[in-house]
Amino acid sequence: MTTSAKLFVIAAPSGAGKTTLVKALLARDPELRFSVSFTTRKKRKNEVHGSDYLFVDEDQFLQLRKDGELLESALVFDNYYGTSRQQVAEQLRLNHNVILEIDWQGARQVRQSLPECITIFILPPSRPELEHRLRSRSTDSDEVIARRLRDALSDMSHWNEFNYVIINDDIELAVSELQAVLRGDAAHNRSDNPQLIEQIEKILV
Ligand code: 5GP
Repeated sequence: MTTSAKLFVIAAPSGAGKTTLVKALLARDPELRFSVSFTTRKKRKNEVHGSDYLFVDEDQFLQLRKDGELLESALVFDNYYGTSRQQVAEQLRLNHNVILEIDWQGARQVRQSLPECITIFILPPSRPELEHRLRSRSTDSDEVIARRLRDALSDMSHWNEFNYVIINDDIELAVSELQAVLRGDAAHNRSDNPQLIEQIEKILV
């Protein structure tokens, strides 16, 4: 491919604030493109087919996967999710940087097929704050919240598979850190930053 456009893969446990951050990034850069994923999950009230997700049934999803239409796919919370290979290729061809907002399993697959992609993991600032965010945005039972928290902690254990880690404490700060990564500023590259690693380890204990 003769384009200089880049593919950014952003992952995070639920409760880290990834969706808000990605929306802010897109609002600030009209040239950036968001890859709209396929999912078999039911549409939520505020979601729009074609801009939040492409909602498909399980048969359609499995057919897409069989036909090689998906750059990656994963089962997340009992639903299938996958990235359209064609959508990503087309935007890169048009020289637009592309963002994938996907889970760590998908990120791993993208890294294998497109090793030049840039991967970013978003973490909440602390475990109590993660728990607070999961509780405050949900009317779910304690049991469901406890499962989300367990899943989030297990997702967080994959942080070191990513090129960059951003801690989402202050949203404005996190957005500007993400913008720096998109511009190619390496300051948040975790492999260069022992202080960041120390901070991450504190969050994970
Ligand atoms: P939600 O259903 O709450 O929008 O997303 C649930 C999880 O699925 C999130 O971690 C989100 O990043 C992930 N996800 C969304 N789209 C994709 C995708 O295309 N592929 C993969 N692997 N995960 C996705």
